[in-house]
Amino acid sequence: MARDRVYLDWNATTPLRPEARAAMTAAWDLAGNPSSVHAEGRQARRLVEDARAAIAAAVGADPRNVVFTSGGTEANALALGPGLRRGGGQAIEKLVISSIEHASVLSGGRFAAGDTAMVRVTDSGLVDLDHLRVLLDGPPALVSVMLANNETGALQPVTEIAELVHQAGGLLHVDAVQAFGKILIDISALKADLLSISAHKIGGPKGVGALVLAEGVAGLDALLRGGGQELGRRAGTENVPGIAGFGAAVRAVMAGLDEDAARMEQLRDRLEEGLRQTRGVFVFSQNVPRLPNTTLFAVPGLKAETAVIGFDLEGIAVSSGSACSSGKVQPSHVLEAMGFGPELAKSGLRLSLGWSTSVAEVDRCLEAWRKLSGTLLKLSDETQLERF
Ligand code: PLP
Repeated sequence: MARDRVYLDWNATTPLRPEARAAMTAAWDLAGNPSSVHAEGRQARRLVEDARAAIAAAVGADPRNVVFTSGGTEANALALGPGLRRGGGQAIEKLVISSIEHASVLSGGRFAAGDTAMVRVTDSGLVDLDHLRVLLDGPPALVSVMLANNETGALQPVTEIAELVHQAGGLLHVDAVQAFGKILIDISALKADLLSISAHKIGGPKGVGALVLAEGVAGLDALLRGGGQELGRRAGTENVPGIAGFGAAVRAVMAGLDEDAARMEQLRDRLEEGLRQTRGVFVFSQNVPRLPNTTLFAVPGLKAETAVIGFDLEGIAVSSGSACSSGKVQPSHVLEAMGFGPELAKSGLRLSLGWSTSVAEVDRCLEAWRKLSGTLLKLSDETQLERF
């Protein structure tokens, strides 16, 4: 990253931690296949199992229940299959997801559209528990809810959701990709049955993740079959350098978690205080528990795509909540699900901080915002935004 740039898009991805780079560099030179019985193979296996142990310890799981994948998307896809059950319980037949999930969950995995239901969220971006109760009526469901939303940072009441799901005989999958490494996670305390995480959100490499299973969860239907790796749950020779980098990143993030979270929260509050100096700034999900590093805000009339380009020209990398497909900016499905109209749903600007974000960087962002908002909002008032 260029030294004069300010990176405030850590929810999209993070820079590689030095510990992860060192672990990967060492792993590239290992010749062995972790499935081989000779010394070279055993050496590679040791790296994979060390990483598995680090991940298991970080989320309070048994290492046997950690399945390495190619990232959060694959972990979610692996989790979302019919047939899952707890012990001798009834197998799952239907899927319930929240309307603010990541696209990899919204796709519904291997459930037919007719077997998938969507639970509403409140205007603060939290799952509507009354609606969930209604949807849980009937055959046991696999419910998939994210722990932290990637756009708003809102933290879902996962333990409460798990209790409702279990009372109805179902299972709960938690997409913890954004929450992992930013808040403490324990799979038993959450009462989650399956948990997805991804390396590149915590300073590990891109293209590596894991699905973690709680004790007693059975019936996971492998997406990739073949050599029997990962106890038959995900075939294919393991990505040894990537997994080693993931393990090193996990150890590094866990060592500084409390301190980093407290610092990021202070910086996030400083940022929001500065943003609020601009008339009309609205911060989404501000009154519910949120990740310490995320702020999603909007000013009515100011399109996010315009502001993202403006910030970029000022040397600041930020992101919009809205997605861009075939050259057309779509409103954010998260903000729409929260009940905001298409104009506001196209205006969400996300600033997400990380462990190396400094006061000086936050202040540079605010300086850029003052300059941009002065120009853009004036133009917006004059309805001349198209010129940008
Ligand atoms: N789930 C959430 C909440 C995410 O934010 C992301 C990535 O942005 C994913 C899943 C997908 O993870 P990956 O990029 O590792 O496939």
